[in-house]
Amino acid sequence: MSAEADAPVPGCPFCGIVYGLLPSTQVYSDSQVVAFRDRNPAAPVHVLVVPRRHISGINAIQTADGPILAAVIGAANQIAEQEGISGTGYRLVWNVGPGAGQSVFHLHLHLLGGRQLGWPPG
Ligand code: AMP
Ligand code: ZN
Repeated sequence: MSAEADAPVPGCPFCGIVYGLLPSTQVYSDSQVVAFRDRNPAAPVHVLVVPRRHISGINAIQTADGPILAAVIGAANQIAEQEGISGTGYRLVWNVGPGAGQSVFHLHLHLLGGRQLGWPPG
């Protein structure tokens, strides 16, 4: 398991959301995962799926974190169903580092859909 926090990390906005210290529009929650709408949506459906435990990014994942990753991805697929985009298609994105535009260093999976998504991404 990655050696990261099981308590809220000061200054981390997604820990703030997970612990109910910051507002969010939540669409899904279970014992390991919380998902909420992106405040600056890039598509009609744009949800961020985060583990409750603070992990800095997908590049910090260790072998023993497999179950938490499965929980995040499983939640994203379930939310896609819930949002009515599982038939038309959707994209799951992990941004890693500044070159890919990562701005929040609490692991989050972007779920995007509800419009035709171009490839390659910008
Ligand atoms: P990334 O660029 O991959 O790190 O994505 C971070 C995403 O988090 C961006 O799309 C932001 O719009 C979104 N975001 C940042 N703070 C919040 C917040 N408090 N509530 C909802 N979305 C947020
Ligand atoms: Zn955090």
